[in-house]
Order: sequence, then C-alpha cells, then structure tokens
Amino acid sequence: MEKREQLYEGKAKKVFTTDDPELLIVSYKDDATAFNGLKKGTIVGKGVINNKMSNLLMQKLEKEAHIPTHFVEELNDRETVVKKVSIVPLEVIIRNIAAGSFSKNYGVEEGVVFDHPTIEFSYKNDDLGDPLINEYHALALKLATKEEIELIKEYAFAANCYMKAYWKERGVILVDFKLEFGRLSDGTIVLADEISPDTCRFWDAETKEKLDKDRFRRDLGGVEDAYAEIMGRLS
Ligand code: ADP
Ligand code: UDP
Repeated sequence: MEKREQLYEGKAKKVFTTDDPELLIVSYKDDATAFNGLKKGTIVGKGVINNKMSNLLMQKLEKEAHIPTHFVEELNDRETVVKKVSIVPLEVIIRNIAAGSFSKNYGVEEGVVFDHPTIEFSYKNDDLGDPLINEYHALALKLATKEEIELIKEYAFAANCYMKAYWKERGVILVDFKLEFGRLSDGTIVLADEISPDTCRFWDAETKEKLDKDRFRRDLGGVEDAYAEIMGRLS
C-alpha cells in the first residue's frame, strides 16, 4: 500500500489517500502542541511510540473488548493503514481520577479517585477552542444521532474497562483519556484517531510519576524518557 496525496496535516499526524478509496495512511510526527496549539515543541521519537502504542491498543480493544476500530495494518515505525472515516466531531473524554481541566474547572485536587468513571464531550472545533458540550448540545448541533451517541458511550466505557485493567497489570494507573469515533462509508461507528501518551494520562502506580504529555504541557522535563518508559511497559 502506497501514499498518494496528502489529505490533511494536523498537529500530530499527516493523513494520506491511497489507491483504495476506503483506506488512508496516517503518518505520526514528533511535533507536540498543547493549549490549542499555543505551545509548540518536538518530542523526539514520539511519532514511533504513538503509532505503535495506538495500533497495539486498538487491536486489543477490537479483539478483547469487541470495539470496532479503524486499524488495518502497521506499515512501518511511523505509518499505518486505517479505514477512512468521517470523524464525529466530538472529543470523548473518560476519567477515572481527577486531573487537568476537571480539577481546574471543579476545584478538585488532582488524584481524587472517582467511585464511577465520568464521560464528557468536547465539540471538536479549533476555532471555538473545543468547548465542553453535553449530549443535547451534540444532538442540537447535529454532530451525531441519539443512537450514535449511545453506541459511542458504550464503546468508550468498554474501552475504559479493558484499558484500566490492562495498564494496571503493567503497573500503570489510567487516569483519563480522549477518544474519537468516526463513520465508515456504510455508517458503522468505529474507534478512530489514536490512543497514546498524547491522548491519555498515565501515572506510575508506585511513584505516581507522570508518564504522558503532561510532562510537556507542564514543562516537567524528562519528556522523551517518560514516553519511552510507558512504551516499555507494553512489552
Ligand atoms: P489535529 O487535527 O487535532 O491537529 P492530528 O494531527 O492527530 O490532529 O490529525 C489527524 C486528523 O485525522 C484528526 O483530525 C483526526 O480526527 C483525523 N482522523 C483520525 N483517524 C481518522 C480516520 N480513520 N479517517 C479520517 N480521519 C481520521
Ligand atoms: N485530551 C486530548 N486532546 C485534547 C484534550 C484532551 O487528547 O484536545 C486528553 C488529555 O490528554 C487527557 C484527557 O483528554 O488525557 C483529559 O484532558 P483535560 O480535559 O484534563 O484537558 P487538559 O488538562 O489537557 O486541558
């Protein structure tokens, strides 16, 4: 499978067409951004790690948690063939522990463990700064149907259940994460985009050390080492 035209260049990935109209190739970059693109930088080797981690987790979720995903085939260190979807413009965020914007918005200390995981949606729109919305807003904005939202919630909680246990076995606490879903040409909802240290918060279970993009966002140092460490836990 070969790349044809570049369809899109995002903050972390490039997306290419292929000779199959139903398939795309995504290419992971080392570019890192935070705060809606305001902070920019490079995390050396991130593209390779995010590509491999995302592919591994998506295959697990497909097989073990029965969540359909866009994953087709890893081509090389940075490139993967995926099913082309029309992205549902929602960032679906699941949280097990208070951190980041939850702590800030609701005045809760980072690290408070929830009795039940939470779900929230942001409207994926860079110009508006990805505002937080609820299901009724998503319906009013025609971002998805009621049935699609129900399915997305079911898949997102199932992904959390599976991944929480998976990471726990590897000495990692899955604090929170963001998922994106899309529609195949026949309307089937599948998990798309990526699952990586860019899109999840991972804490070492023993030391509570941050092993994710917060090291970049908060200038904590050791960014590359943290990405390598979390990737190492997978093998
Ligand atoms: P951003 O657009 O936020 O800068 P990226 O750099 O990760 O993010 O760009 C990848 C883009 O590709 C995102 O907009 C994402 O929603 C989209 N995307 C992810 N998976 C698929 C897919 N299977 N088909 C079509 N688009 C996808
Ligand atoms: N997240 C993401 N992309 C975004 C916003 C958030 O992948 O555009 C992820 C982030 O890595 C974290 C979770 O979603 O794992 C919750 O992020 P939060 O709302 O706390 O936002 P932040 O603190 O990054 O502003």
